[in-house]
Amino acid sequence: MKFFRKILVVAALACVCVLGVGCAEKGAGDASANLSRYTIDAVFDDAAKTLTAVQSVEYVNNYDVELNDLYFHLYPAAYREGARFTPFNEGDAAGAFPNGKSYGGIEIKSVKVNGTAQTPEIGGQDEDILIVKFADCLMPTSRTTVEIEYAVKIPEARHRLGHYDGVVNLGNFYPVACVYENGEFKSDPYYSNGDPFYSQAANYDVSITAPIKYTAAMSGLSIVTDTKDTRKSSAMLLAARDFAVVLGEFKQKTTTADGAGVYYYYRDDVSPDVSLGIAAAALKTFNSMFGKYPYATLSVVQTPFLNSGMEYPGLVYVSDRESGEFYRDVIVHETAHQWWYGVVGNNQVENAWLDETLAEYSATLFYEANPDYGVDYGSRIADALTAYALFCDFFEENSDTSMNRRLPDFKTPHEYAMMTYTKGQVMMDSLRKTIGDGAFFAALKKYYDDNYLKIAAPDNLIGCFESAAKRDLSQFFATWIDGKVVTFNKY
Ligand SMILES: [Zn+2]
Repeated sequence: MKFFRKILVVAALACVCVLGVGCAEKGAGDASANLSRYTIDAVFDDAAKTLTAVQSVEYVNNYDVELNDLYFHLYPAAYREGARFTPFNEGDAAGAFPNGKSYGGIEIKSVKVNGTAQTPEIGGQDEDILIVKFADCLMPTSRTTVEIEYAVKIPEARHRLGHYDGVVNLGNFYPVACVYENGEFKSDPYYSNGDPFYSQAANYDVSITAPIKYTAAMSGLSIVTDTKDTRKSSAMLLAARDFAVVLGEFKQKTTTADGAGVYYYYRDDVSPDVSLGIAAAALKTFNSMFGKYPYATLSVVQTPFLNSGMEYPGLVYVSDRESGEFYRDVIVHETAHQWWYGVVGNNQVENAWLDETLAEYSATLFYEANPDYGVDYGSRIADALTAYALFCDFFEENSDTSMNRRLPDFKTPHEYAMMTYTKGQVMMDSLRKTIGDGAFFAALKKYYDDNYLKIAAPDNLIGCFESAAKRDLSQFFATWIDGKVVTFNKY
């Protein structure tokens, strides 16, 4: 996600404001062979603002343990009235609900395992986990089919899931399997800080039927079938860790970048070619800097959104509240997330800094590599350092400057943004100066290659830098990542 950096720079002490169809050229097709497959057939009722869906998951047990059950996140449950964990904190309510509070939710109507019905069991910390029991345990590498029927109520909200001003954001709208780790399914609720999502790469085949006025921007290129009143949009995306859709009456611009189709869906942009161009330029730059983007399309969608932007595989949100240089900055940051979060995944609850630091610093690298955009590398780093220094000064006595915290352990969204984006940028600049450009960029390429469509942990990233630099960097990273003391003399 992208928060409101301009506010941090201008007034650092203020509150944070926040495939083609089928496989790709490199890797995604090959990597998709043994992944679970989600087939979702959904219908959007525009009057009721509900989505009813039949979802079939051919689930592959890719763990080395037998599974007796399977947990699914029900992220839309966080939008319901009475939820203990809500997608945004109270301070953001006015921005999220311009027309007053609105609730959503998800109702699980039926569950079948290999064709046998079972009573839906809802659990988790906040009635936000669907628990599916297996009659016989699922052995490693074995598959089973779970069919789920559900209805999602979409709140009137400018959020990942929400409708507002004629646009319908369908982010995190469907039951997605929890990651199994250390003997349990990771079933964290929808924390308001950061992007509290964690999932394995899977194959997706998604169809959505909506009134014909809507264009569906989808993760993957949509194929459209129209009737008199409705439009069915279908898309496949292989080896992706999530899938999102945005419905709207959009204008479109299209180009290509290194063979990938780049699509820009917008309603109000006086220079759409510039917006499209920077997305294409970012895709090309990161292809050559880190490794090839695996999907055949990238869709950039201008949409009502509380924060500045949001990343999904093959599709990013850019808030229609942004404009000018910062709007383009959001496009670059969210595009960078295709590499960091999308292809190289990480537990965004435990190690949010991993993808946010890399996405934000990658945006700085983009401007350094593309000087025509007139954004100076040194100025961005200097701005980050100034903002971070002011934050630490202001909260002198109580500063916790550790970056590697669980999302709920950040006291405020401001502190979260400072540690994962801003301090992270300064850290990466310091690291690059410490080990030199050769080792620095070789390490990023190795990190991308080694963790391609997998889940990385901080030690994977640190190991790549140590390997490339041929030196122990544990103390360097410990100081930056875990350091709770403000140590400006080190900069
Ligand atoms: Zn981000």
